[in-house]
Amino acid sequence: MAQAAAISLWDASAEERAVSSPLNGDSATELAIVGGGFTGLSTALHAAERGIDCQVLEARQIGYGGSGRNVGLVNAGLWLPPQDVRKKLGETRGAALIKTLGEAPGYVQSLIERYQIRCEVTRTGTIHAAHSPKGFQDLARRAEEWHRLGAPVDLLSREAVGELIGSKAFYGGLVDQRAGTINPMGYVRGLARAAQNAGAKVATGVTAKKLHRESDGWVVETDAGNVKAKWVVLGTNAYSDDLWPGLKDTFTPIHYFQLATEPLGERGRAILKGGQGLWDTGPIMFSLRRDAFGRLIIGSMGTVVGGMHGLSRRWAERTLQRLFPDLGKVAFEECWDGQIAMTPDHLPRIHRLAEGLYTPIGYNGRGITPGTIFGKAMAELLAGGKEEDLPLPITELKPVKSAPLMSRLYQMAFTANQLWKSI
Ligand SMILES: Cc1cc2nc3c(=O)[nH]c(=O)nc-3n(C[C@H](O)[C@H](O)[C@H](O)COP(=O)(O)OP(=O)(O)OC[C@H]3O[C@@H](n4cnc5c(N)ncnc54)[C@H](O)[C@@H]3O)c2cc1C
Repeated sequence: MAQAAAISLWDASAEERAVSSPLNGDSATELAIVGGGFTGLSTALHAAERGIDCQVLEARQIGYGGSGRNVGLVNAGLWLPPQDVRKKLGETRGAALIKTLGEAPGYVQSLIERYQIRCEVTRTGTIHAAHSPKGFQDLARRAEEWHRLGAPVDLLSREAVGELIGSKAFYGGLVDQRAGTINPMGYVRGLARAAQNAGAKVATGVTAKKLHRESDGWVVETDAGNVKAKWVVLGTNAYSDDLWPGLKDTFTPIHYFQLATEPLGERGRAILKGGQGLWDTGPIMFSLRRDAFGRLIIGSMGTVVGGMHGLSRRWAERTLQRLFPDLGKVAFEECWDGQIAMTPDHLPRIHRLAEGLYTPIGYNGRGITPGTIFGKAMAELLAGGKEEDLPLPITELKPVKSAPLMSRLYQMAFTANQLWKSI
């Protein structure tokens, strides 16, 4: 059988193998989970550990969505500055969420350790780099709040951050010692393996087509048989389809693309020499990191334009030249993109769609830690916890009417940015 093309560098390079067990005909379980990403598999792992019988249904392969395509920055907190999260969610809920997500990189690292997940994990922090003096002010504001909360973050001068990155292009940076990097496909496959070993069933290549309610629970109709379940968790996020009416209209889909160089060996040593992953404060965000083999992975918002030899490739070459004038020409091995679910206030959501049917969604490009934590919270709820103890208050579905238009406008702006920066 022909090998399917890799969906990302991580798909090709992850040491962890994908696990799957077939779904043959109709079956019954306590908890059906749709989606085999961080959210779905963290739900499955933590539910199975609590003795709940569960069945994961993934339409394509483990990590097919954002989980197998992302940058791999295991960050603390949300994309919004912590004080803005508090303001939006209120003092009590906001502070509790910030605390939970501030500790979340440590929790992800503990799972990696406990289940010996082979995912190139680093614990050397991440750098939020200032693209301008105004960007540095934003970082100073974030640093002030994190320091107030006692978090180990360091606000670095232009010179100090330049030394870490190996580039003079940035105006300073915020190093978060709690954070690190992973091969995200390795991590999500490792979660699947751990969930399966804990007793969860994980089926891939199975699309959930319809959901209907019966007196004692739910029936998930799939192309491989019906699954009866007491509860259902949808972990479909930015890759949501029409399974639950209106769900995919509650966020604006945007894209993020990346290219990976060949392993650079000695030539790349001075770049991000401490192994930190980096993203910047620019309005059209840019990211850079290394993998365990010495590749550089560079990315920004938008889709890959022109495949391996088109506009995105020129953007990557020009950006690397601008940042690291001494690097010289490099060869690229992979390019890919993925979809992100943006919400109007940049906060994630947990929806109760109907009795016994939940979905955490809308991670705004920050999903490794929230996906893991919200999945765990789903399991705790179904094991007898209270909705009030979830990391976020339950909210109603609210369509974002401007989403289709905004999605197209963002895409145009992102492509124009690639063009502009390729000159
Ligand atoms: C390019 C990119 C870079 C990013 N970088 C970072 C980063 O550095 N750090 C970070 O923390 N976050 C990052 N993110 C965000 C993060 O990857 C996502 O928030 C996270 O992966 C969401 O996980 P999830 O499990 O909720 O959903 P997903 O991983 O998207 O999984 C959803 C799954 O549902 C399946 N599905 C959908 N419908 C059905 C159906 N009807 N039946 C069966 N299966 C179905 C899909 O096939 C898919 O596999 C990035 C995202 C992208 C796209």
